[in-house]
Amino acid sequence: MFEITKSTVINSLKKISNDKINTSSLTLNSIRKFEFTTEDLSLEIALSTTNSEDVRSLIVNQLKKDFAELKNINLNILTKSSSKVSTHKDAKKDAILPGVKNTIAVASGKGGVGKSTVAVNLAVALAKDGASVGLIDADIYGPSIPLMLGLNDKPKVYQAENSVKMIPLENYGIKFMSIGLLVDQKDPIIWRGPMASGAIKQFMTDVDWGELDYLIFDLPPGTGDIQLTLVQTIPLTGAVIVTTPQEVSLIDARKALKMFERVNVPVLGVVENMSYFIAPDTGNKYDIFGSGGGEKICKELNTTLLGGIPIDPRIRQGGDNGVPMVFGIPDANETKILMDISRKLTDQVNIRNSNAADKIEILLGDED
Ligand code: ADP
Repeated sequence: MFEITKSTVINSLKKISNDKINTSSLTLNSIRKFEFTTEDLSLEIALSTTNSEDVRSLIVNQLKKDFAELKNINLNILTKSSSKVSTHKDAKKDAILPGVKNTIAVASGKGGVGKSTVAVNLAVALAKDGASVGLIDADIYGPSIPLMLGLNDKPKVYQAENSVKMIPLENYGIKFMSIGLLVDQKDPIIWRGPMASGAIKQFMTDVDWGELDYLIFDLPPGTGDIQLTLVQTIPLTGAVIVTTPQEVSLIDARKALKMFERVNVPVLGVVENMSYFIAPDTGNKYDIFGSGGGEKICKELNTTLLGGIPIDPRIRQGGDNGVPMVFGIPDANETKILMDISRKLTDQVNIRNSNAADKIEILLGDED
């Protein structure tokens, strides 16, 4: 009978000879998850490499070569490349969140466009590429992150030197806190508003985040007073706007972009969600909510389109079952799209941070 073991996998991977990947230090401990059924292999492996499609292909091709009977290979690569993440230098952020390199808001003009789904999958995608990531669920209208990340425990607390600290929950390599753990869902929103900005402040100051490359905030949808207060409370590196392609959603996405402009928070880019649907039986593409909306708004408001995510029932199932798509189905096309969006986002963060550093240099030059 066809059989694969951890050690035959390691022996196979050690045969790869390529500059991008160092397999000489691989041991059985490098395999963090191993599930093998007759024809399918699910593998999670810790490697010192950058996580790119090239590296994934090298590994998958080598495994297919050595184990020709394998039909499906689900591969997750855990890397340690986060030292390359640039830092947003900002006095307010450093005072409130000294261990956090960057803070990113995920926002939308309208509810139901997939903002939380995008926030969760982007967080997991960044973590898969080796970054240390935290996620704060600030959506008072419908805090859904605990459901989407499959954990709804009460956070533990401990007595630190001067204050009590909360320990964030952790799953899929990301740390998270949710307003849903503190606010009673039955309370009217008028009560929840002031509680939200208080709770977000507490999530920044009283949670033991440790060192993070990215702390992502899933904001409530819309551009009202609650959102404006939150945006001004959080020392943001930048914001990502999620929209669907149709005009009725774009109208509100424009308002969200303008809100960030008003408070001088850079918009890092737009994610167009539910861009199209590919029928699984025919392969035909349907533009259910129209097409080109994301591109249009980016041109109009001079910002970057980070990518377009199709409608796929597996994305919805991933949310409902608490296993984000990018983690649960690593080889899906949608996962590749989400990984690509997270890499474009990283590029935008780096551009913003290097532009900010340039500005400081000019100021010093003027003083001489
Ligand atoms: P928001 O945070 O904007 O209110 P959610 O992320 O909660 O939106 O998404 C609303 C619903 O749509 C959820 O059930 C989610 O699983 C689903 N959904 C979001 N994006 C997609 C997608 N690309 N394909 C299929 N379902 C999606």
